[in-house]
Parts: sequence; structure tokens; C-alpha cells
Amino acid sequence: MIAEVIFSGTELLLGQILNINGQYIQQTLASMGIDSYHQLTVGDNRDRCAQAIRQAAARADLIFVGGGLGPTEDDVSREALSEALQIPLVQDETALNIVRRIYLARGITMPEVNMKQALIPVGGKALDNRVGVAPGIVLEHQGKIFFLLPGPPFEFNCMLDEQVVPYLKSRFPEEMGIIYSRVLKLCGIGESFLAQSLGDLFKSSYPTVFTCVKGSYIDLSITAKAEDELRARRDIAAMENILRQRIGQYIFGADRDTLPGVIGRELARRGKSVAVVEEECSGGLLTHMLSVDPFSARVFAGGVVLSKTPGLKGLSEGLSRPQGTTEAKAAEQLARAIRRLTGSGIGIAVLGPSQQEALVNNKNMMTVGIDLGHEILVKESLLWDNKSEVARRGAETALVRLWQV
Ligand code: ATP
Ligand code: MG
Repeated sequence: MIAEVIFSGTELLLGQILNINGQYIQQTLASMGIDSYHQLTVGDNRDRCAQAIRQAAARADLIFVGGGLGPTEDDVSREALSEALQIPLVQDETALNIVRRIYLARGITMPEVNMKQALIPVGGKALDNRVGVAPGIVLEHQGKIFFLLPGPPFEFNCMLDEQVVPYLKSRFPEEMGIIYSRVLKLCGIGESFLAQSLGDLFKSSYPTVFTCVKGSYIDLSITAKAEDELRARRDIAAMENILRQRIGQYIFGADRDTLPGVIGRELARRGKSVAVVEEECSGGLLTHMLSVDPFSARVFAGGVVLSKTPGLKGLSEGLSRPQGTTEAKAAEQLARAIRRLTGSGIGIAVLGPSQQEALVNNKNMMTVGIDLGHEILVKESLLWDNKSEVARRGAETALVRLWQV
């Protein structure tokens, strides 16, 4: 089965936004074993969108259009589909109920312009939108299936997962091989080094192994498409074994595990708590990450963010940045200070440039100090090139260091 995806949106063509929906839908299609050979972007123009739909229908079985389902003049996907297939649009009761729902819930009158969103080509069906106003559309016509999905990424993803995927699975139970996959979560290793250690395994066609970089972490997916669940799971487990033998020291978890969660569980097991002092570099993000995760929250004793401009005097003498010393010494002292102040098992200090300093003054070194009580570890890291993500990098680097001790 071949799919073709069309994105409608002038802002995509102008480079004003990143095509996030493209990534999500292509991953989803791939995970169902559906091939995709072309992907197209058109502006908010009815004729060009209709032309793209006709072109896609000539070479694919499933045609998706993302965006352009809103109530305004520049939302043209419905009209374009109608024009491409020469099928008139009619008011649809189900669609109207979906559009009305949100206004009813808020007790406000639906604006007249929204009526347009209840139009559906004859023979088509509305797809429910649990998180927005615009209903999606599915239309089967001359052996092809057309899907129209709303543009806002959250709505797009939800509709894809909750409507489109089940629709296709029940419509073509034979063709959709079942995909099993397991995602190993890695940190502390770069993608190139990983490729060097696992190069041969990336060529495996069953189960397949592929990576996706997520900030300071890497997702390493093992995927098997098969009818036989037991066999697929056994083959995935065998591949996981090989991977663990080669790069086991970098694997911190699997599937839904997060690094704060894994750290939280491990510290709870050891009966230890952790406290944080951070500068503008991570700017409170490490504190946030540790305090929102339900597992690390249980072992999180508190966090302090220090400003480089003289801040609250008397918060605690020991908690101000020591002057006239190295970054390493400062990190050591602050890690010790926060540990003692909070009576925690572990104290962490994250020192480094603010985003402004990184961008303007080209500062790119950060220092993490970890006081474990019986010893203090200090490590400097490069914040790499992406200086617009200093805070996230800083906080994640500190988490990785914490996991490594
Ligand atoms: P709306 O009812 O909000 O108008 P829509 O279905 O008409 O939804 P668009 O108008 O095309 O969709 O886009 C709505 C919002 O979603 C815009 O902010 C747009 O930038 C964003 N968006 C649309 N397509 C994409 C995409 N492929 N990737 C990321 N964002 C997108
Ligand atoms: Mg719109």
C-alpha cells in the first residue's frame, strides 16, 4: 500500500514553521508498513491543492491532506478535495455536532463561519476531533482513500492515532502487518559513536534497528513486523541482548522510561535524596525536571537558582558563588553547600553560562559538581553548538552525570 501526504499551508512554504506533522505521519505510516514515496507542500491555494490531490491520487492508494480545515478563507482543503474529485460538499450532521460541541460546552454561540467546517464531500465521513473544533474527513472514492486532517500538531497527531490508524487497521486487517517495537533509551554516547559500535546492526532488515536523537538522549528502536507475536517478541529480545552486550553501559531504560524517573527509582532504592543548586545556565530547569517526574519528585529535596547579579543576601552565606576560584572548585563548594543545607544524600551544582552569555560571549563550558557525601565528582562539559538550547542541554547534562554515578 502506498501513501502520499500533502501539507497545505503558506507558512510552511515560507519557512515560518517547521513541518512537525510531516515527521509524525511519516513515522506512523512507516510503523504500519505503508510505503510513502512522495510528500508535497502547497500554499493555501485551492487550485494548487486540488492539483496536488489529483497528482497524489494518480500514484498512491492513501492520500492525506494536513491543514486547511479551519473556518477561514485561507482554509481550502475541503474545497480542494471537492474540486479534485468533482464531488460536491454537503452539510454533515456528525461533523456539525463535532464543531458545535466545544461552543456548547463553553456556553457560547457558534460563529456562523464555523458552519463551513461541517461540510463534507458526498460519500465522505467525519472523523472526530477530541482536542479541537475541526472534524477530519475520510472519503473512499474509486479505490482510493482520502484523509483530511487538521493542521495544529496536537490535533493532527491525535486524529492520526485515534481515528486514522484504527480505520486503516480495521479496513485492511490482512495488509497491515503487526508491528512490535521496543525502544532502548540511551545517554552519554553520541550518535556517531553509536553508529561505529552498531553499524552492522543498522543494516538488519529484521528486526530493524534505528536511532532517533532526542536532545541529550538517543532512542534506539528495535522493530519487528510479523504476524506471529511470540516470534516477533523473541526476535526483538534476541536483538536487545546483542545491543546490551555492545553498548549496555549507555542504556538507562526502555520504552516509556525517562531519565529523571530512572534516577528517582534508583535513589529511592538506595534511600537517598537529592538537592540542586543551579545558575542561569540551566536556570531552574533541572529543578523542574526532578520535581515534576513522579518518581524523582519523591527523592527531590529542593532546588535553588542563583543569579549572577547579587541576589538575595542572607539566603545562606554558603550558597553564594565563591569568588576568585576555578569553576571546578566553585561547583564542588556549591554542591557540598546544598547537600548540607538540605540534609540530602546528594547535592548537585550546575554552573555555566546563561543563554545570553553563550550566544554573545561565546561561552560554552558548563560544570557539574556532585557531592555524594563520601566523595565529590566534578565534570566539565561542552555545551556544543546549539547555544539556543543552553538550559535544556545544561539540565540534561547534569541528569546524565547524576545517572552515571
Ligand atoms: P485551524 O482550524 O487552526 O485553522 P487548520 O486545519 O486550518 O486549523 P492550518 O490553518 O493549516 O490548519 O494550521 C493551523 C495551525 O497549525 C497553524 O498554527 C499552523 O502553523 C500549524 N500547522 C499546520 N500545519 C503544520 C505542520 N505541518 N507542522 C506544524 N504545524 C503546522
Ligand atoms: Mg487554518
